[in-house]
Amino acid sequence: MSEGESSIPLPEVSAPELSVDTMTSITEELSSDAYEGRAPGTAGEEKTIKLISERFAAAGLEPGNGDSWYQDVPLVSIEAEKVTPLAITGGSEDMSFAYGPEMVVTSYQEQDSIEIADSEMVFVGYGINAPERGWNDYDGVDVKGKTVVILVNDPDFGTESLEGEFGGRAMTYYGRWTYKYEEAARQGAAAALIIHDTAPAAYGWNVVESSWSGPQFYAQTANGGSDQTKANGWIQKSVAEKIFASAGQDLAEQMAAAREKGFKAVPLNTKASVSFDNAIGKMDSKNVIGLLKGKTRPDEYVVYTAHWDHLGRCKPAPDGDDICNGAVDNATGTAALVALAEAHAKAGAGDRSIIFLAVTAEESGLLGSEYYAANPIYPLSQTVGGVNMDAFGMAGPAKNVVVVGKGKSQLDRYLEGALTVDGRVAEAEPTPEKGFYYRSDHFSFAKLGVPMIYFEGGEDLIEGGREAGEALSKDYTENRYHGPKDEYDPNWNWDGVMGDLKVYYTVARMLAMTEDWPNWNEGDEFREARDKSRAGN
Ligand SMILES: [Zn+2]
Repeated sequence: MSEGESSIPLPEVSAPELSVDTMTSITEELSSDAYEGRAPGTAGEEKTIKLISERFAAAGLEPGNGDSWYQDVPLVSIEAEKVTPLAITGGSEDMSFAYGPEMVVTSYQEQDSIEIADSEMVFVGYGINAPERGWNDYDGVDVKGKTVVILVNDPDFGTESLEGEFGGRAMTYYGRWTYKYEEAARQGAAAALIIHDTAPAAYGWNVVESSWSGPQFYAQTANGGSDQTKANGWIQKSVAEKIFASAGQDLAEQMAAAREKGFKAVPLNTKASVSFDNAIGKMDSKNVIGLLKGKTRPDEYVVYTAHWDHLGRCKPAPDGDDICNGAVDNATGTAALVALAEAHAKAGAGDRSIIFLAVTAEESGLLGSEYYAANPIYPLSQTVGGVNMDAFGMAGPAKNVVVVGKGKSQLDRYLEGALTVDGRVAEAEPTPEKGFYYRSDHFSFAKLGVPMIYFEGGEDLIEGGREAGEALSKDYTENRYHGPKDEYDPNWNWDGVMGDLKVYYTVARMLAMTEDWPNWNEGDEFREARDKSRAGN
């Protein structure tokens, strides 16, 4: 037991009735081409949210937003069109780089056209301003109106341990691209270009290209994004090497320098130009929400989250297939919400209420969950905690589950309790450097203090061990993840999924049956937010 942890025993939970047919049929349906990859604001959304709400109703839930199954999430979409190549001048030779294979760019500003013209380029290392760590990559440099070039991840990426200024090899929020664009905007930069590098980014250029072309979505703001940079983008590492060379700099040397505390930003004495038009659309997308009202303490809530959206139409595969179906990511998690709703309803109401929340626009930056957390239907201070599900492993039954953010909260005790029945073990994620903790919907709740646990079936397979599990996971990441081939496969073995689903059931069921209020562990970055939000209770 860690410090301050409750000694309330974990409630006994009976084995759930979980339907494999619900899992397979909904996963197959939502990932069929008829749903066109479930992009927010499309006909695919209409079909998706209808299916989820009908299945929630059939399971015996009640509508979660008054008499509605939906929460409107106002979004703006901005799609860059007629993008010119990125032109670089002022160095030893003029260069230009093609939109798509060499660079991608978009805007967060609701402007009809964007022009970056002869904008001075400055290399700002990791682009981090962290006063509490005494680290400021923008110290002494004025980047107003300029184009900042930024490294992905954070400075102690690449170290072996989890010790260091920025959590060792574990990624911190400072390593996320969202943070880097936010900080560049705060510094007044006109444009921000992140240098892609497969290892620290944790995904290949194909993912950047497919995710950053096409409409980009934002939660609507009153100022239309006027406080953002005009252009945000990524460049291939090979492109950065050429730009640095033409500026008389060596990228590898500068990357090494940027890892040291006290690094000073480097003006590249080159200028960047790129322009494009913005096709701007506004729409309401929707979160789907169902409720299983608690028996004895209905105003205390346990929440399940899973995103229903995916990338829609995307960069075609060589065979011409241009629908990113998102079968694993995250038709499986959406199906799981329904299967769990059915199982909890069959078991009868818990003491606490259980919320089933299918959120939109996760792929666009966790927008649906962020919107819910900012505009909660049920107070976050009364939300005990929750479980997020994003992309089930389809590799078959595993001896382990992998916890993203293990050790962060007292929910670990619930997970371990849920696993012991089946003799499984909880392991910390092997690659905290990939920053998965900041990349799915639990984070939207966590940063406002609600303890959330996020785990997945592991790779230590009962049949084939880690070698087989790792090979399957590698195949998914390289060949399917965020591409047109994340498709339903009738040959999948669902035994592993059903075992994982039982764990998701048991953790939330225990939370719905206890009087405990598990918190973040002492010293965790989210503990203060929780203590504040619970102070009035
Ligand atoms: Zn996902």
